[in-house]
Amino acid sequence: MDQSTIETLVRIAYIVAAAMFVIGLHRMNSPATARSGNLVSALGMAIAVVAAGVDVATPSEGQEVSGLAWPIIGLGIAIGGGLGLLTARRVQMTAMPQLVSLFNAVGGGAAALVAIEDYGALAGFGGSIPLQTTVATVLGVIIGCVTFSGSLIASGKLQGLVPGRPITFAGSQIVTAILALAALAGAALLIVGQPNLAILALIIAVALIFGVTMVLPIGGADMPVVISLLNSFTGTAAAMAGFVINNPVLIIAGALVGAAGAILTKLMADAMNRSILNILVGGFGTGDAAAGAAAGDGPGGSVREVTADDVAIQLAYAQKVIVVPGYGLAVAQAQHNVRELAELLEARGVTVEYAIHPVAGRMPGHMNVLLAEANVPYPQLKEMEEINPEFSRADVALVVGANDVTNPAARTNTSSPIYGMPILNVDEAQNIVVIKRSMRPGYAGIDNELYLNPKTGMLFADAKDGLAQLVAAVKAV
Ligand code: NDP
Repeated sequence: MDQSTIETLVRIAYIVAAAMFVIGLHRMNSPATARSGNLVSALGMAIAVVAAGVDVATPSEGQEVSGLAWPIIGLGIAIGGGLGLLTARRVQMTAMPQLVSLFNAVGGGAAALVAIEDYGALAGFGGSIPLQTTVATVLGVIIGCVTFSGSLIASGKLQGLVPGRPITFAGSQIVTAILALAALAGAALLIVGQPNLAILALIIAVALIFGVTMVLPIGGADMPVVISLLNSFTGTAAAMAGFVINNPVLIIAGALVGAAGAILTKLMADAMNRSILNILVGGFGTGDAAAGAAAGDGPGGSVREVTADDVAIQLAYAQKVIVVPGYGLAVAQAQHNVRELAELLEARGVTVEYAIHPVAGRMPGHMNVLLAEANVPYPQLKEMEEINPEFSRADVALVVGANDVTNPAARTNTSSPIYGMPILNVDEAQNIVVIKRSMRPGYAGIDNELYLNPKTGMLFADAKDGLAQLVAAVKAV
């Protein structure tokens, strides 16, 4: 096959791959089509990788390609693909955010390396480098390096390797500002001046340190939002690298990831009623869930404790039960137990629905993914807007390990840190049952007045145990 036919085929493959990314993303709009969307995107990526390999390993006019090109590409795919497959298969659902963060680090670092390599090669030939290449290199390197080090810290915080609490030191904001200025000054020098590898090295060092100082002051519990932002950075860095090496599919894939990550970051911040700036400045909440749980002894006032037998009778004779899953359900891995309970109730003629808050849990879509894993039928999962009017018609709202997303203070208490956050109107149900281990607060570190509501019964238990008790008790009714 001659050179120009190969080039045409590679371009067609790139267009097909890009179209598959878009179709794949679109299919992720609904849990019912999300799996196939993932598959379509992965297939598109496989096509893009093969096409890029052919592109690189096929010599164009006057160019020589080393015989080692294919073995090296193959080795890279085997190592990277093998590690990716292994970690993704092994990871627990609750550890997914830190894995995504690690992948972001790798993506950002790779994008930066591509830009550095290309710039280095061009600079090595002497002479000038086109302005657009320098601009794309500088942006790709800065964003990629910030993403690399920032994502490693974010992942470390979630994994408990780096303390989850906000870490600041005297003058930390000044240091961050100086680093940002140094990166900008280096970028300006490279853009207006001659190619200079020493300045590029300085920019790399500064950007790497900036990534660390940017993420350290942010509390562990805000990490999912930061990870989503860094994910958007990864995409942007990849798009920049695409401009540097003139690869259209890298530009398109990078732009899609950049835009999707940015939209998700905004949605998450809105759902928590916080600004992205407020999250990045840091210091909110209790640092992480464990610290939060240890923080308080609960709100003043009396709570009504109930037993599994009491609750089982309420549930078994209800017409409509709304289950509200939260972070505690995810930690306890109680998704299968909740489905088992729901099936028992449905067999008795009870209508069961699940109320899904957009930020219930610790990562976007956390509850949908968990419940889907347990084969809960999709039509039973109701988004917040859809389910809220239903609570007043529910005989029982069964809250399992959810806290902040049910806290009425978000509607009524202007001084509450979560004031204005949209919540699930659990307090409008005829009866409320809350399964959690204690009166301790959730992620936002604040008390929940729902627990003092006379309609509320507290079933103090681990989510899995509590649900197992309920299953046994309902069977006995
Ligand atoms: P919360 O963190 O408000 O509450 C979780 C509750 O679960 C705790 O009060 C805890 O109480 C309980 N719990 C913990 N472990 C268990 C267990 N094994 N069994 C039973 N209960 C348990 O979670 P929500 O889901 O209600 O709210 C999510 C919070 O996370 C929101 O504040 C949101 O803003 C924040 N967030 C969400 C993100 C997302 O993308 N989803 C991203 C960033 C932040 P106890 O210790 O007494 O058991």
